[in-house]
Amino acid sequence: MDFDALFQSQLDALKDEGNYRVFADLERRCGAFPKVRNHGPGPDKVTVWCSNDYLGMGQHPDVVGAMVDVAQSSGTGAGGTRNIGGTAHHHVALEAELADLHGKQDALLFSSGYVSNWAALGTLGSRIPNAVILSDALNHASMIEGIRHSRADKVIWKHNDPEDLDRKLAACGDRPKIVAFESVYSMDGDIAPIAEICDVAEKHGAMTYIDEVHAVGMYGPRGGGVAEREGLMDRIDLIEGTLGKAFGTFGGYITGSTALCDFIRSFSSGFIFTTALPPSVAAAAKASIAHLKQSRVERDAQKRQVARLRAKLDAHGIPHLSNPSHIIPVMIGDPVKCRMISDILMEDWGIYVQPINYPTVPKGTERLRFTPGPLHSDADIDHLVAALNDLWSQCALSRQVA
Ligand SMILES: *Cc1c(COP(=O)(O)O)cnc(C)c1O
Repeated sequence: MDFDALFQSQLDALKDEGNYRVFADLERRCGAFPKVRNHGPGPDKVTVWCSNDYLGMGQHPDVVGAMVDVAQSSGTGAGGTRNIGGTAHHHVALEAELADLHGKQDALLFSSGYVSNWAALGTLGSRIPNAVILSDALNHASMIEGIRHSRADKVIWKHNDPEDLDRKLAACGDRPKIVAFESVYSMDGDIAPIAEICDVAEKHGAMTYIDEVHAVGMYGPRGGGVAEREGLMDRIDLIEGTLGKAFGTFGGYITGSTALCDFIRSFSSGFIFTTALPPSVAAAAKASIAHLKQSRVERDAQKRQVARLRAKLDAHGIPHLSNPSHIIPVMIGDPVKCRMISDILMEDWGIYVQPINYPTVPKGTERLRFTPGPLHSDADIDHLVAALNDLWSQCALSRQVA
């Protein structure tokens, strides 16, 4: 068997469809973000427009300082799993910070947000006898894989539709039910009707599980997410988040009751059998959370730049999905065009925005996803809109009349 030939033929098919992924080779410089050094095709210096380090906390002096200090005082790696020698005081302190952020009794750290969803849903679905998991149709791959791994029954409900959820919960009878959904959906930027979902879940005695990965640090008076902003944190049984996006570091977590966190801690293979986060990473994440709990400067500046970009796109008739979040999807609807526009933006304009193609989004809904932040200047926004305006004329793309 010529395995390489097999690999290559599948890669060639991906390329023909326009769905082959090419990574941008970039180098961040503290203090300069979102301007970065480009090691790939195009100018040396480019502006990043698709980062999930939404608030630029990855270069915040308190956060970088905490990581450097703890690397110097405690060393680099954790040295073991949480159970066998790997628990550092910095993990314990970070878990307390996270429990406080979400108003919960306890929290539990994981290697990433992906692993936290996979491990928590996998454990709940497999260890709760006769459980059924009701999953929003647009849930993230990490939740889908966790549910699949649990081998529990799964029922998919219509995206953001509490009435469909109500009907489907009713059909489950008196089995233990878990309702799994997100707050901010990362590709369309829409936000779940959390209160209505909680009403329906409560009516049927179901547990609620929310992924606030794109909302933590960003929404609510202390950056506790959309559920904090709407005063709903106490109605959600399990809140899951990441330390890798708005908090600018790395890792994932869940928060909930003491019994819930202890249950996942004790039974989840994805928590037990892997080396703990580096203590320096935990310290940096804690510094970032602590900063965003008491500072709204970053959130306010980000909202301003999001509104500014939206208004300028509208003024030029460049179509984008309207939504109540910080994510601005500009729809292209074709994988090859999407890739081409992204290449031209990078090479001719020094603008880095990754094309978002299948399987991240459905075929025919390919898009450029812009995430303006507090560190994008007004001039950066003007430059981006000038570039898009030029491309829209050159490529005869359709405009939207406001
Ligand atoms: C990015 C993402 C995750 C995974 O978080 P990581 O920390 O990057 O592993 C989970 N859920 C959603 C909705 C995400 O977009």
